[in-house]
Amino acid sequence: MTPLSPNSVLGIVGGGQLGRMSAIAAARLSFRAHILTSQADGPAAQVAHAVTIGAYDDHDALRRFANAVDVVTFEFENISADGLDLLSSLRPVHPSGRILRISQDRIAEKTFLRDAGIPIAPFHLVENEADLQVAATQLGYPFILKTTRLGYDGKGQARIHAPEDLSAAFSRLAPHPLVAEGMVDFACEVSVMVARNAMGGTVTFDTTENRHRNGILDLSLAPARISDGLAQRARELAAEIARALDLTGIMGVEMFVDRDGGLLVNEIAPRPHNSGHWTMDACPVDQFEMHVRAVTGLPLPPATRHSDAVMKNLIGPDDMALWPRIMAAPGLLAHHYGKAEARPGRKMGHVNVLFPYGGLPGEFGVEAALGPLATPADGD
Ligand code: AMP
Repeated sequence: MTPLSPNSVLGIVGGGQLGRMSAIAAARLSFRAHILTSQADGPAAQVAHAVTIGAYDDHDALRRFANAVDVVTFEFENISADGLDLLSSLRPVHPSGRILRISQDRIAEKTFLRDAGIPIAPFHLVENEADLQVAATQLGYPFILKTTRLGYDGKGQARIHAPEDLSAAFSRLAPHPLVAEGMVDFACEVSVMVARNAMGGTVTFDTTENRHRNGILDLSLAPARISDGLAQRARELAAEIARALDLTGIMGVEMFVDRDGGLLVNEIAPRPHNSGHWTMDACPVDQFEMHVRAVTGLPLPPATRHSDAVMKNLIGPDDMALWPRIMAAPGLLAHHYGKAEARPGRKMGHVNVLFPYGGLPGEFGVEAALGPLATPADGD
């Protein structure tokens, strides 16, 4: 793949914060970001060179968009795969529609990972209540039932503790089919950002430890507090998946560290990922620049970090009420997504806090460094 020449146009399908931060990284390398979005004033449109307004299955809008750009990428997975196929017939699209399809469907994703020899939790396809009975018998209680499509941030899943929960959970979760998954008793959750270009060059950022609150990512710690060997193994697994998918672009790979120190892959996301936001301030080349480089055919520099880091998400009105204090706090590196309305549960921005390389503090040190964003102790 010949690298895209300076001032070329990078088409990004999707208008959210990942598109915004990709567009900013693209601009630094001279590329003009053109966004396809239904939101004229969304996070990405605000910082882009050009915007096509349209739905992701609006063929007329897709054609106009494709004709105005040199290469296409996407910033979230819930776009129409058929729409992406139309774009692929007009312009190069990275990552490919095949990878998008795999990541859009948990069954396709898990089947792909299992067949590629990647360790995952046991799973069963559940199309009807009889399948669910069989899954329950084989997995044992408790287990997790999830929608196969359109689930994110813990939405579209239920924990099943006993046979009497089966029927209600099956009816509540939609659309069908569902997937039943063995419950992993994990010690922690980690993720790896892996980037790969069309020449096969592959880089991985340091393994990150992730903490969730109410099903939404709250904190990422880099590097993860796991053994060097395990952190290295997580990076190797991510690179292995990228190669098996023939990825061009960047991908987040979420994994569980189980109580025996084993790794199980939970999910892949072939785009920049929330758990890679710490790289924006702690790495010479961050996940967004790595993504832009990968999809435009540029070389990938090493994904090194110069500092340890903690990333905290700013969610909804409560966190945004702290914005003036965040602005005044020393050491909080703030990223605002430009969303006008702070609805509960909505990702509004994030902050990074840096520590010297190798100097990530313990729990109390992390909380202290977060200043106004420190989690109140229980009972406060
Ligand atoms: P997901 O929608 O698959 O990203 O899951 C959201 C969150 O639910 C994960 O980050 C985990 O905290 C939890 N979770 C998902 N699958 C499992 C599992 N098989 N075992 C234990 N916890 C899980």
